[in-house]
Amino acid sequence: MSYLKRSPWVIHYDGTSCNGCDIEVLASLAPRYDLERLGVINTGNPKHADIFLITGSMNDQNREVVQNIYEQMPDPKVVVAIGICATSGGIFSECYNVLGGVNKVLPVDIYVPGCAARPESIIDGVEKALKILEDKKHKLVAMGLGTEILAIEPANIEDAAEILALQKLAYQSEAELYNDFAFPPLMQTLSELKEDFKTIIFFKAVMNGIIIGSVRGYVKDDTCYIYRRIVHPIYQNLGIGKKLMNEIEFHFGFASRFEVFTGHKSKRNINFYERLGYRMFKCEKVNDKRHRVYMEKFADRI
Ligand code: SF4
Repeated sequence: MSYLKRSPWVIHYDGTSCNGCDIEVLASLAPRYDLERLGVINTGNPKHADIFLITGSMNDQNREVVQNIYEQMPDPKVVVAIGICATSGGIFSECYNVLGGVNKVLPVDIYVPGCAARPESIIDGVEKALKILEDKKHKLVAMGLGTEILAIEPANIEDAAEILALQKLAYQSEAELYNDFAFPPLMQTLSELKEDFKTIIFFKAVMNGIIIGSVRGYVKDDTCYIYRRIVHPIYQNLGIGKKLMNEIEFHFGFASRFEVFTGHKSKRNINFYERLGYRMFKCEKVNDKRHRVYMEKFADRI
């Protein structure tokens, strides 16, 4: 843990665990394994926490609680899913009321395996989380100092190849989620994307000359349709997706209504849009694997 500059504080939330993983987290902090001896302190206040330890699976009742805790934690922050229930839903994944693992609700940085997860594995997971925390902190500091300059600006057709490469990288996790690798964003060709530039406005997030994010949209009948918001995986959870959304909404500020869509299992996207004021109004079947959830926001909510 030599890379740590200060004691990291953890906050622990028990979703729907059987308490097996839950007591192992407490055992990791208690005298026998004694994470505290390494400077890790367990806090009950999300505003003081750097690392979010979650045990158990997610459901509709704890989803909002988990998001609420996460939102209150200051940036940078790291999420650790502990045990197979928090990883995928585990033996409860087929239950009628279980959404799945923590990744259905929040971006997870570290998965600690086991049923129950052993204290040694939990300590190992926390140590890996500390490394990620430091990396995120450096990125934020670099952005603040201007050594990594983030610019959100209109993209043009010369950016098409770079945006397409980023799109294929960013949509990998969605394709895995639906086990559908014929996903349209993964199948799009360069000539199709270049064709889109004739009718659609693209924005890009550029850091040190490299495109790390993008979003696109157009207006029809007073509605602005926004889609394919993408951020490079290593720059996710730093607020870049939100900046892209703010920019495109501002650009099309004359529209009276805004519409986005995402997949029915993409809970993180749904939560993200809800935080921006979008509300679900329609769900349509695309194929046997995927439904498309449509969300809208009216101009007075911006
Ligand atoms: S992973 Fe096993 S021990 Fe941990 S909460 Fe789930 S069922 Fe319990």
